[in-house]
Amino acid sequence: MASKWNGKPCHLCGAGRLRDRVKTITQEYKGHRFSSKTRGSFCDHGADGFVEFDAAEEAAWLAFRDRVDAAEAADLIRIRKKLKLTQIQAAQLAGGGKNAFSRYERGQAKPVAAVINLFRLLDRHPELLDDLKAG
Ligand SMILES: [Zn+2]
Repeated sequence: MASKWNGKPCHLCGAGRLRDRVKTITQEYKGHRFSSKTRGSFCDHGADGFVEFDAAEEAAWLAFRDRVDAAEAADLIRIRKKLKLTQIQAAQLAGGGKNAFSRYERGQAKPVAAVINLFRLLDRHPELLDDLKAG
């Protein structure tokens, strides 16, 4: 069934016409790209358009973000263990309270980018941990 926009002039740019079609749209989450075929009414002149809400597509996007978050949490666990830190010691380095790390690792809280970046740096340069402890 055609959408209510199909064939109408595009009032977003004023130059094109909207046409129903499926377009591949790529979104990014924490540096990971997710592409999905999105149904909507898109301008034939520019990049404007209206996207139809699609519950399955929305669920796929949320599942994708969950997978990225879970991989990040798994990475934090791996790095913390490699550095031989307890969750409490890791939280002392990262800030956010003594339970912060256990919450990150269980997926109950999302660490800010600085925490991820710090542990990825320590993963590559574990000797820097001594500098932090000395401080
Ligand atoms: Zn347009």
